[in-house]
Amino acid sequence: MGGVAVEDEEVKMAWAGKIKYTLRQKQSAFALLVVHLIQFAYREGYEITLGEAYRPRETAELMAKKRKGIKNSLHCKRLALDLNLFKNGKYLTSSEAHKPLGEYWESLSTPGLKCCWGGRFGDGNHYSIAHGGRK
Ligand SMILES: [Zn+2]
Repeated sequence: MGGVAVEDEEVKMAWAGKIKYTLRQKQSAFALLVVHLIQFAYREGYEITLGEAYRPRETAELMAKKRKGIKNSLHCKRLALDLNLFKNGKYLTSSEAHKPLGEYWESLSTPGLKCCWGGRFGDGNHYSIAHGGRK
């Protein structure tokens, strides 16, 4: 049997909800999907600088005390990335400016891998994969 047939079977199982990604598999899928997101941004004429990706639990707890994030942030699970967006040299900070990227990011979702854009909850530069009910 060729690899294609196996992949087809995996896709069928995923669609049937029979594949559950482990955290480690989600983390690696996230890293690869971010590549697609960044390439999309450059194709659309944006430039990116990398913001926060991994956040130690201690930092998340301190931030939560200052009401700047949640203790159980997906950054602590290596499933979230903050991107800084630029166009024509201008730093774009609004959620609205991130919307084209956000919608593209959401479109990359597949069964078992839900790509979530923070612009849906007032955090426009935040891109993540849902895990344990969090975004
Ligand atoms: Zn974030």
